[in-house]
Amino acid sequence: MERDIRAILATVSHPETGENLVDGGFVDSISATEEKITVALRFRKSRDPFAIKIKNRVEALLKERYTEAVITVFVKEVDNNAAKKKEQIDDMHRHTTTSNVSKVVAVASGKGGVGKSTVTSNLATALSSFGYKVGVLDADIYGPSQAKMFGVEDYLPDAVQIDGRDYIIPAEVENIKIISIAMFIRPTDALLWRGTMANSALRQLIHQTAWGELDYLLIDLPPGTGDIHLSIISELSIDGAVIVSTPQQVAVADVVRGVEMFRNPNVSIPVLGVIENMAWFTPKELPNNKYYIFGEGGAKRYAESVGVDLLGQIPIIQSIMEGCDSGKPAFSTDSETEKYYRQTAQKIVDKLSTNC
Ligand code: ADP
Repeated sequence: MERDIRAILATVSHPETGENLVDGGFVDSISATEEKITVALRFRKSRDPFAIKIKNRVEALLKERYTEAVITVFVKEVDNNAAKKKEQIDDMHRHTTTSNVSKVVAVASGKGGVGKSTVTSNLATALSSFGYKVGVLDADIYGPSQAKMFGVEDYLPDAVQIDGRDYIIPAEVENIKIISIAMFIRPTDALLWRGTMANSALRQLIHQTAWGELDYLLIDLPPGTGDIHLSIISELSIDGAVIVSTPQQVAVADVVRGVEMFRNPNVSIPVLGVIENMAWFTPKELPNNKYYIFGEGGAKRYAESVGVDLLGQIPIIQSIMEGCDSGKPAFSTDSETEKYYRQTAQKIVDKLSTNC
C-alpha cells in the first residue's frame, strides 16, 4: 500500500523546482492502514508558497484512490527545532478533533450584518443535502448566531471521555453538527469575551469537539480581521476561505483586508471566492424585475480586480430572513433559496476538489 501511495505522490510535481515529490525528497513519512493514511511532507524552505497547493493536491488524489480511508496530509516545518516541532505536530494530530474532517472552510466577512452567519447555515444545509457529513463551528464571539439559526439555542453540550480525554458533544440537527461559543456563554456576556477568555474557549471548541468524521466543517468567523482571527486560523488547518459581502461593502477596506489576511504568506490559505449577499430584490408581483438596492455588479468587479472568484449571488429573500428567526435555514423550506445556495455550494465543492 505504501508503494502505491509513493507512486501517487510521484505524479505530483513541485511547480517551482519541477521535481516530483518522491524524487525531490519532499515526502517525510507515510503511515498507511486501510482506515487511515497519514502523509507528512517536508519542503526545503520554511513556508514554501506552494506547500498548501501541493498538500491539497496530494489529499485530493489520495481521497480519490482510497475512498474509505481517513486521509491526513500535513506539512512539516523546516527549522532547527525539528524534534520539538515534531513532538508538537504529533501531539496536535493525536488530539485535534478536526483530523477526521476532510475539508475545513472558513466563512469570513469584513463587517457584521452582511449575512455571514445566514450564508454559513444555508451553505451547511446545502452541503448536507448533497449527502456530505457537515459540521458548523460558530466562532463569531461578537455575535454568535448559529445555535439560533439551527434552532438549538437551548442545547447544553455534554462531555464524553474518549481515550481518557474530555470531548464536547455538538448539537445535531438533520445530520448537521453544530457547536457554538454561544453554548458556553450567556448572550449578554459575548462582548466581554474578547481577548484571552474567548481565545481559550475557542481553543477548547476547536480541539475538544467530538465531530466524528466530517466531509466539511464550516467555521463562522467573527467579522473583520484581528488577533482572534489569526489565533483561530493558526489552530485549525483551513483548506479555503469564503468571503461574504453585500454589494456596497464589497470594495471597502474591510473586505480587502479580509482577502489579504488569508493571502498573507504566513497564513497562506486559499481564498475560494466571494459570495455577494443581498445582491438584489425581486418583488413577488414583479417576478422579472431585479432591484439592485445596494448597487449592481460590485462583487463581480471586486472579485475580478483581486483575482478571486465570485462564488455566488444571493438576492434578498424574505424566507431567508424568516429562516434565521424560525431556526430552520431557508434552504430547506424555500425552493428559490435552495436554487441559489445549491449553485454556490457546488462551486465551493468543485473548487476544493480541484485544488482551488
Ligand atoms: P452577520 O453574520 O454577517 O452579522 P447575519 O447572517 O446575522 O449577518 O444577517 C443579518 C440579518 O440579515 C439577519 O436578520 C438575516 O436574517 C438577514 N439576511 C441575511 N441575508 C439575507 C438575504 N439574502 N435576504 C434577506 N435577509 C437576509
